[in-house]
Amino acid sequence: MNSKKYTISKKAKELGFQLIGYTNPIIKQSDKKRYKVFLNKNFHGEMNWLNKQYELKSKPKKLWKDVKTILILGINYAPKENPKILDYEKNKANISVYARNKDYHTVIKKKLIILQKYLDEKFSIKSKCFVDSSPVFEKALAQYAGLGWIGKHTNLVSKKIGSWFFLSELFLSEKIDADNPEINNCGNCTSCIESCPTQAFDSEYNLDARKCISYLTIEHKGVFPMSLRKKIGNKIYGCDDCLSVCPWNKFSEITSEKEFFAKKTLINPELKKFLVLKECNFNFFFQKSPIKRIGWVRFMRNVIIATGNSQNKDLVAYLIKFLDSEYPILRGACIWSLKQLIAIKDFNYLKKKFVSKERNSYVKFEWEHN
Ligand code: SF4
Repeated sequence: MNSKKYTISKKAKELGFQLIGYTNPIIKQSDKKRYKVFLNKNFHGEMNWLNKQYELKSKPKKLWKDVKTILILGINYAPKENPKILDYEKNKANISVYARNKDYHTVIKKKLIILQKYLDEKFSIKSKCFVDSSPVFEKALAQYAGLGWIGKHTNLVSKKIGSWFFLSELFLSEKIDADNPEINNCGNCTSCIESCPTQAFDSEYNLDARKCISYLTIEHKGVFPMSLRKKIGNKIYGCDDCLSVCPWNKFSEITSEKEFFAKKTLINPELKKFLVLKECNFNFFFQKSPIKRIGWVRFMRNVIIATGNSQNKDLVAYLIKFLDSEYPILRGACIWSLKQLIAIKDFNYLKKKFVSKERNSYVKFEWEHN
């Protein structure tokens, strides 16, 4: 490794990045082709920006014409315990590991800005930083740079630290020797494919995001498909099932980054606690959290469906008020969840009381088809 590359990598390590690699700003035809198939099959669902950004994504130079090298960085956010055990705590809300504290975009960006300043002052290298919010083909680039390989679950896996890590990139104005790409080490394993609660994998390496619980609970704005509601279980924001079962995570170590430690209030909180969270208090409760992005209505839709899956009749008292919600999506979710928890005669009593005054065709549909 030449001394400039060594010095930059050393600085990145000091800032807390465990995985560091360099690659050329060129995307392979095979990766572009695979991504096109994903888009053509509409596996991206409502994430239309993925379609619009295809050109930019497949040509890094279009994103920044001066880029000569891409520095890819991985930072570990591995939890204390395997989150899979939380799936069975039905009275509690299951939040994806990455969202249990501060928004990682903010945490990582702060580090990248320090690194950019260092590169400029020490080597006059100009750079642009990206943290999962721009059209960067980051998983493919990370594999080219040797950080890991794209596993059958379509996430990156590292031999050194498993798969609990965030990726970010610095586009550099200077040519630095590229690292060797990582090879695929999935072998015959299919644990992630088998573990998916909604069978969201069309095939190995091909995810239909429309069935993925992470997509449904975070990106999807509408009603959950009837056929997937039970399978969502207690997950109210994201899903870690395919990561949790990956054997390579035996090499992961608990994150040392304080900002990624789970907040006590977000490790499997009682569903009850969120059922009483008012719209006016949502932004304050989730300030600095990635959860804030989805807003109270989408969040509450998720909590209501998880309540329907709780098998806890005591939660009916908290749930029933949503039949009067001003938001049709919450009234609809509430009907489904009540149906899971109360006796038929009680459900029919409520139906009689509410259906005649219901004006929304979707909510009427929920009354009629539950
Ligand atoms: S669970 Fe198995 S198949 Fe899936 S990414 Fe990990 S090693 Fe690959």
